[in-house]
Amino acid sequence: MEYDYLIVGAGLFGAVFAHEATKRGKICLVIDKRDHIGGNCYTETIEGINVHKYGPHIFHTNNKEVWDYVNALVEFNRYTYSPVANYKGKLFNLPFNMNTFYQLWGVKTPEEAKAKIDEQRKEFSYINEPKNLEEQALVLGGRDIYEKLIKGYTEKQWGRPAAEIPAFIIKRLPFRFTFDNNYFNDRYQGIPIGGYTKLFDKLLERCEVRLNTNYFNSQSELDALAAKVVYTGPIDLFYNYQFGALDYRSLWFEHELLNIDNYQGNAGVNYTEAQVPYTRIVEHKHFEYGVQPKTFISREYSKEWQRGDEPYYPINDDRNNKRYNKYKELVEKESKYIFGGRLAEYKYYDMHHIIENVLKLFKK
Ligand code: FAD
Ligand code: UDP
Repeated sequence: MEYDYLIVGAGLFGAVFAHEATKRGKICLVIDKRDHIGGNCYTETIEGINVHKYGPHIFHTNNKEVWDYVNALVEFNRYTYSPVANYKGKLFNLPFNMNTFYQLWGVKTPEEAKAKIDEQRKEFSYINEPKNLEEQALVLGGRDIYEKLIKGYTEKQWGRPAAEIPAFIIKRLPFRFTFDNNYFNDRYQGIPIGGYTKLFDKLLERCEVRLNTNYFNSQSELDALAAKVVYTGPIDLFYNYQFGALDYRSLWFEHELLNIDNYQGNAGVNYTEAQVPYTRIVEHKHFEYGVQPKTFISREYSKEWQRGDEPYYPINDDRNNKRYNKYKELVEKESKYIFGGRLAEYKYYDMHHIIENVLKLFKK
């Protein structure tokens, strides 16, 4: 065997795994079917702007160990994500906070805001245990917030009625009675200065990496090279869809380089009405306070995944979770293969979860 580990996928799970294994004297071969490292976190520098090619990535965590880990590799800036919502031409701050409540209803104090929200929620007091995202959102914030800031965005993003989407997804967003537009509650937050690809260059600096290499084009030859295989691609594909395909949401982007220096004054503007076909516009330079003469924007569209598309988001509803659990039973019987990451575990992981998971594996 030439290698201790063959690592399928140079995304975050694969790269952190490779880094940790290499540190312990193991020899790793990392492959990726794409022509670059970094998976969905990959950034590419265009006109001096670090473009988040697969959607905006903001690093945030409450875990000091994870924060120290990434900061030991690259320097992070003090960026705080504060997207703005555009609903029918009107702008609202996100996440839901005193600024938003003022913009919606003119309420100026937390007491006034709470009274307004209680009034908005009253008609839904019959919902004891919210069974889906729609019920959860109505119970949390009432009708105005749901209709102006949640329903349209959510249904575009997931391609399903909000009543068919799991409730936990909306609980990702803070709801607070302070004038604080920070999208996350976590203690630590920032963006790697110079873009995420720098982080991956560091993670993989001592490993052999082969790009443009699809594992399934020569699985048995590749498997024969290593004692163990770490697989970070879609789990259903690994098992040849034997229990059926899992559903994913896919994305596509309309990227545009503009000859102006500032298009929207913010990294993220969400379009929360159903009529605008994209979910959001990202202006990448603002993640790093860029002052370049040009600007680069991406309109983000969501679509149902079909074979051949890039899977982005697992759809963790009951039907898919049940199907995934069947695959998981097979996973548990494997001895040569290790499965990890958003696609192989079919979980809506953020970056900090992935790092935590890999570090935990190495502590075992
Ligand atoms: P991936 O990044 O998907 O890496 C898997 C890699 O495996 C890919 O490079 C793929 O090409 C490769 N691969 C798959 N199949 C094969 C094969 N057959 N052969 C060879 N290679 C293969 N997280 C945050 O913390 N903050 C955010 O702001 C944030 N924003 C996000 C925005 C979007 C639009 C998306 C989609 C995700 C976001 N995330 C965010 C989540 C973050 O992207 C993931 O947690 C992280 O990238 C998962 O890493 P991974 O290694 O599991 O998967
Ligand atoms: N969401 C919304 N309106 C917004 C932003 C988010 O209703 O303006 C909902 C939507 O259902 C989304 C969920 O909140 O899927 C989680 O949002 P987040 O920004 O965490 O999604 P991600 O970064 O994973 O795309």
